[in-house]
Amino acid sequence: MAGMRVGVLGGTFDPIHLGHLILADTAWELLSLERLLFVPAGNPWRKAGQPITPGHHRLAMVRLALEGSRFQVWTGELERPGPSYTVDTLHELRGELPDAEFFLVMGYDSLLDLPHWHRPQEIISLAFLAVASRPGADDEGALAQVEAILPGVRARLVWLDMPPVGISATLVRERVRAGRSIRYLVPPQVEEYIRIHGLYRLAQRR
Ligand code: ATP
Repeated sequence: MAGMRVGVLGGTFDPIHLGHLILADTAWELLSLERLLFVPAGNPWRKAGQPITPGHHRLAMVRLALEGSRFQVWTGELERPGPSYTVDTLHELRGELPDAEFFLVMGYDSLLDLPHWHRPQEIISLAFLAVASRPGADDEGALAQVEAILPGVRARLVWLDMPPVGISATLVRERVRAGRSIRYLVPPQVEEYIRIHGLYRLAQRR
């Protein structure tokens, strides 16, 4: 019997927004997934230098957004000390779900960043990459560069046909800081959480 098909959507989720949820839903449908795990990064080392909202807030918002959905959250990266490496996560998940076939779900910008991650060659041996285009990020030439650093990557790619969604967490944070509306960019429960906890109001977040 073929293994269970499991999607893994890692991110900072600072905050989770509708782009993430549409990406997850697209992956679920097009890949016939049986499980899809949102994996909030504990220590997103690729975003070093940027202030990151504490993990408990980011996790709370992911939980609120996923309430009643078919997706789950996996908290292993938040619980693991040190930098959050996807390769460690995939090994840990394989230990938990030995029969699973893993699909790392990501936007095109993450695919272009992948050669700079920790042990990328091992990552593509452990999981397929399910990649959705992202407005502003698509570039065939850049993909050739990824292939040059990571031979064989194309054979591990599955393209996700997703309607372009120009929402990013950066955009959401900027709008909150500017006192502008984020309605319809994030789920209503997340919008309320951000308001109640006063997140993203200051340039220097704590
Ligand atoms: P930031 O703006 O803070 O960099 P982000 O919106 O890119 O954040 P992440 O949590 O870093 O959010 O993203 C997690 C994953 O979701 C990444 O693989 C990213 O490419 C993907 N993603 C986020 N937003 C979109 C979108 N609008 N369309 C397609 N993919 C997306």
